[in-house]
Amino acid sequence: MIDSNHFNGGDVTPDTKLMQAAIDIAKTEKTPFGAVLAMGDQIFVTAANQTKALNDPTAHAELLAIRKLAEHLQKTDLSGFTLYTTCEPCPMCMSAAIWAGVDTVVYGCSISTISKFMEQIQIDCEFVNRNAFRKVETIGNFMKNECLKLLKRYA
Ligand SMILES: [Zn+2]
Repeated sequence: MIDSNHFNGGDVTPDTKLMQAAIDIAKTEKTPFGAVLAMGDQIFVTAANQTKALNDPTAHAELLAIRKLAEHLQKTDLSGFTLYTTCEPCPMCMSAAIWAGVDTVVYGCSISTISKFMEQIQIDCEFVNRNAFRKVETIGNFMKNECLKLLKRYA
């Protein structure tokens, strides 16, 4: 994981506008969880957590964004895309990002931070990444203060 506080470059420089879009969709849906899938600086889809609205315990923001984009593109390979998410992906969502083959996951608050507000599965996304058949670049703690405000307000 590259901590954005110690970010030294690499293939992807996280984009504040794209994380802001994830924050905005979360706010619109009054949830701490928002996600964006982008290629370069172009947003393809946004999604917010819809578990209660859809009575679907799997309707996490990241999973919905991946499903929407795959449906839109009519393919399962989302390589070339970066997933921005206000909170570190849970093991389900990180696995989905790996199955989809996204290049990079950029997240705001870590699972340990989210855990102060609600129950979480204590498996960080790097653990899933390390044990996967392909590696996704991860950048954590990006705009974490802005994302923390969502947890304080909506969790
Ligand atoms: Zn999830």
